[in-house]
Amino acid sequence: MTTIKKKISLFLLMVLFLSPSFCFSLDLSEEIKERKIPAYIIDNTSYISVKSLLRILGCEDAWGRVEDRVFIVHEGGEIKFRLGGKQVIFEGRTEYLNSPVREVEGEVLIPVDDFGKILAGLKTEAPAVKEEPWQKKPGETAVLKKEKFVILIDPGHGGSDRGAVGNYGLEEKAVNLDIAKRMGEYLKKELAKKSNIKIYLTRDDDINVSLEERVQMAKDINADIFFSIHTNSTRYRNPEANGFETYYSGEKENLMFLPPPSDIEGLEDDYEKESALYKILEDLSATTAVDESRILADFVQERLAERLLTPDRGTKRRGFYVLKYTPMPAVLTEVGFLCNPNVEWNLRDIEVRKAIAETLGKAVLDYLAFRNFI
Ligand SMILES: [Zn+2]
Repeated sequence: MTTIKKKISLFLLMVLFLSPSFCFSLDLSEEIKERKIPAYIIDNTSYISVKSLLRILGCEDAWGRVEDRVFIVHEGGEIKFRLGGKQVIFEGRTEYLNSPVREVEGEVLIPVDDFGKILAGLKTEAPAVKEEPWQKKPGETAVLKKEKFVILIDPGHGGSDRGAVGNYGLEEKAVNLDIAKRMGEYLKKELAKKSNIKIYLTRDDDINVSLEERVQMAKDINADIFFSIHTNSTRYRNPEANGFETYYSGEKENLMFLPPPSDIEGLEDDYEKESALYKILEDLSATTAVDESRILADFVQERLAERLLTPDRGTKRRGFYVLKYTPMPAVLTEVGFLCNPNVEWNLRDIEVRKAIAETLGKAVLDYLAFRNFI
């Protein structure tokens, strides 16, 4: 089900990127009255279901949803928003809602007045929010109008830290490094004309780099994306473990002095605290580094699902050290299980590594395009 939804949304994204935007205007309240569409009152605000909206727009099939992201394609262009969020991307512009989009019993509900204004072509005002460096300024199309955009690719492990080791001796650190280098090359080639986009690696050799150093590097070079590459193994080296997954952290801590990692992968198991804070973050703003990380992680999974035949294990939230302490959008992808002999065999193949590297690179390009950087 999830895969189908993702495929649909990917198709939609492709349509979104291809479709030119043009002006569009519609009187939503009038349409609701005329068509006798049922409205719901929540917190003194009138809502209609997204399906009703689609009927009004005449595009009942042209929508998709990935987790909490909803996309609609209609003749006026594109509409994107998140459940619980108060921002709507409409024809490439960011518009703001007074009341959030809601989900009630599986039905996505949108606030009538707010959407009415947007569809009538009126400009909506941004609420006062704390400005983060990656955050969109009200009325700007791009999230970030920066002179420079920095991508930091992080091949996991290295030196005496070999990471996972396959049954036939293939070491994770080597696979990660090779994929990272190829991904960097691919992005450099694809972004050759964009001299303002810089690509760096946390290591380009078989050397030890601590987790703190990786995070510090991301801060020092003021990275806009931190992209960590890993290869998986299970605790008991299950030969049947299979698939790829991408992580983002549900919380971010920007500390002057970094704490020592709790273990080699720097995974902190405080889900409870994380989820509580995550909810608050969710409520505060739709455009935090956490949200951006998740968007990027979704692109990674969508691209890998397109290219790899192994199972899609999904986008997951987990407080890995390098994800939690990097203040910018950050993801950690596990491209396959080295404890699975078939996967180990495949990962020895240069062509497979190249394909994975390009796929990860494409996900970064997806993100850059989604945010109008390219
Ligand atoms: Zn690893």
